[in-house]
Amino acid sequence: MADLVPAPGTVRIPVRGGGFFPVHRIYCVGRNFVDHAKEMGVAASASKVDRGSPVFFSKPADAVIGPGAVPYPPATADLQHEVELVVALGGDAPQGILPVADAGAWVLAYGVGLDLTRRDLQAAAKAKRLPWDTAKGFDHSAPISELVPAMQIDDLKHSILSLSVNGEQRQRAALEQMIWNVPEILHELSKLYALRAGDLVFMGTPAGVAAMQPGDTFIARLEGIVELHGSIIGR
Ligand code: MN
Repeated sequence: MADLVPAPGTVRIPVRGGGFFPVHRIYCVGRNFVDHAKEMGVAASASKVDRGSPVFFSKPADAVIGPGAVPYPPATADLQHEVELVVALGGDAPQGILPVADAGAWVLAYGVGLDLTRRDLQAAAKAKRLPWDTAKGFDHSAPISELVPAMQIDDLKHSILSLSVNGEQRQRAALEQMIWNVPEILHELSKLYALRAGDLVFMGTPAGVAAMQPGDTFIARLEGIVELHGSIIGR
């Protein structure tokens, strides 16, 4: 039997050194840096962050957009940047819970991305205890760099995540400040989902989230490893 509508295409992200990474799902971690949890008013101190239960949400696979122009989304007056480490999974995890000690082996590559957020819609959803989908999972909400094979990266743990907008630094933090590291997050995700080759994980943002306007240019960096250059264009 033929498809009754055109099959959706697969989003593919270029990988440094050759080839593409076809995207299956996009998982995102909320509140993975204490200073960002504080600025969002959900943690008074490190001890107030509930380390037992990371916050997860997701974006559709076709929210991915590469370097270059990012359209300003509709239905918001407060589009905000969140620079994040992006983890790309290279294989299907075995059934069951991934042990922390094994989880790193499923990472194929890393990139840097923006978890773009319609902050006004998120604030309204939080106030009403409603889901975040419209705030997070919109078209073009996941700009991402090329992916760098994990084997080509010497010391990810000590690398610095940063974002500048119009040449001015907005966000900067060491990855070792993350509350949950990559294997810990994959372990937690595996309790909830069957992790698959093609999955991406946005690892959460440090403090300094703020608005972007049409005409703004940005550079997101995993310093010394990879950069994402882009700009926000009008609606
Ligand atoms: Mn985020």
